[in-house]
Amino acid sequence: MVAGSIIVARTEPGLAAVAGLVIAVAYAYSLRRRPMRPCRPCGGSGANRGRFWKYAYGDCWCCHGAKGHVRLGVRVFQRSRARQLSR
Ligand SMILES: [Zn+2]
Repeated sequence: MVAGSIIVARTEPGLAAVAGLVIAVAYAYSLRRRPMRPCRPCGGSGANRGRFWKYAYGDCWCCHGAKGHVRLGVRVFQRSRARQLSR
C-alpha cells in the first residue's frame, strides 16, 4: 500500500493526493466504527492465566481486564471519546 502510493506519487501527484484522501477518510470511518483494538498480551480475553494452576486467572496486566485498548488514531484525533472509552 505504502510502496504503491510512492510509485503513484512519482507518476501522478494529483492521483496520489486523491488516494491519500481516500485512505484518510477510510481510516477516520474505521476509527468511528471500531475504536478499540484487542490487547496483545491476553489476546483480547482480558484475563491473565496462572502458569501453574491453569484454571486460575486474574485481570490482564496490560489492559486490566478491559480486553482491548483504545486505538492510537482515536487517542490522537478524538481525545474526549478516548477518555470515555478507556473508562
Ligand atoms: Zn490484556
